[in-house]
Amino acid sequence: MATTGKSAAVSHVGKIRSNNQDSGYAGQYLFVVADGMGGHAGGDVASAIAVKRITETDRLYTSANDAEFALQAALLAANSLLAETVFEHGELTGMGTTVSAILRVGDHVALAHIGDSRVYLYRDGELKQITSDHTFVQRLVDSGRITPEEAAVHPRRSVLMRVLGDVDASPEIDTTVLETKPGDRWLLCSDGLSSYVSEDKLLNTLSTVPAAQAAADRLVKESLDQGAPDNVTVVLVDIDDSDDSSTTPPLTVGSAASPLVFEADSVRRPLRLPSLLLHPLKATQTDDSHFEPESDEYLNALIAEDRRRALRRRIWWLVFIAIAVAAITAAVILGYQYTQRQYFVGVSDGRVAIFQGVQQDIGPISLSHVYKQTTIDLDDLPLYQRDTVTATINADSLADAQRIVDQLSDDRQP
Ligand code: CA
Repeated sequence: MATTGKSAAVSHVGKIRSNNQDSGYAGQYLFVVADGMGGHAGGDVASAIAVKRITETDRLYTSANDAEFALQAALLAANSLLAETVFEHGELTGMGTTVSAILRVGDHVALAHIGDSRVYLYRDGELKQITSDHTFVQRLVDSGRITPEEAAVHPRRSVLMRVLGDVDASPEIDTTVLETKPGDRWLLCSDGLSSYVSEDKLLNTLSTVPAAQAAADRLVKESLDQGAPDNVTVVLVDIDDSDDSSTTPPLTVGSAASPLVFEADSVRRPLRLPSLLLHPLKATQTDDSHFEPESDEYLNALIAEDRRRALRRRIWWLVFIAIAVAAITAAVILGYQYTQRQYFVGVSDGRVAIFQGVQQDIGPISLSHVYKQTTIDLDDLPLYQRDTVTATINADSLADAQRIVDQLSDDRQP
């Protein structure tokens, strides 16, 4: 089995954002994706600091558990580093970053994860999401309040419950050790990919594009094809049986690939703490500086707000439906009233009759009825008039209809 081209890292600013707040790393044993957030400059700084710190763990460990411990320690160290950076650069207050990382040790990988970037495993033709999003909507899914389908389109789907940053001195990081085997393909990505490209498409690309670089490029292109509203970062690693490390030279992409810049923007107002939990586009400013990301109080407040929004939406729908029903009813009534001001002359029971309404029927509903039956037998009329009356004669008014009847009466054959 080939040992070259086993990993790839690609990061793209996307089609809407002005800067790339994602960072990615594909090293010898370590693979990382980080998605920064927090203001104009904070996001790129946060993901870059975290990735640069975590890349220090890119070496061979004697056991997967050692690697797991090293990864967790690196994420915690990155968290402290972010807090220190904010302490020295107040303008960066509120910056934070997701981190999803795997560290390979032979036939195992150690994994560390916080936030909503994702790790997927493609194995034997199937794609499995390994990490769980630390988002508000994932909490709602886990507690059975909404379905995964509802979560995918939920207005608060990008609200994060956990990140690395300056909020929590000991953030809760998911870590685990998993087995891996030749043929496995590990995909790490920011939500710029997973929020816009369906799992079916991810699976299709991973199963049909053999080279890691080509597959990573294709995945990024698929996000761009969807409009790429967000930065998109893809790190891909193929496991084979000849070696336990990647033979591709280590590659850093995204904001971590550039030198760190701490220039304060004098007009930028510092972001307050809760904005840390929102992606930059949705950042809001509040003065709550004692915010706890995992607090039940906040979660309950979000859930309550969510319910209110659902209720408002339902009320708007009911109002809309009521207005629509009223409009349709009014149209039907006005239409029917219109038809009942129309008259025509036709035949009923073999005799000439004045009808009120219009000749057309709507399905089984007749829009006309006999208004006045005359004593004029159809058979008494001249032949050409029988046909005309049978086909009905439109009248401009009731008086006009009466005039037509009088005329027919006069035309009767003796
Ligand atoms: Ca993102």
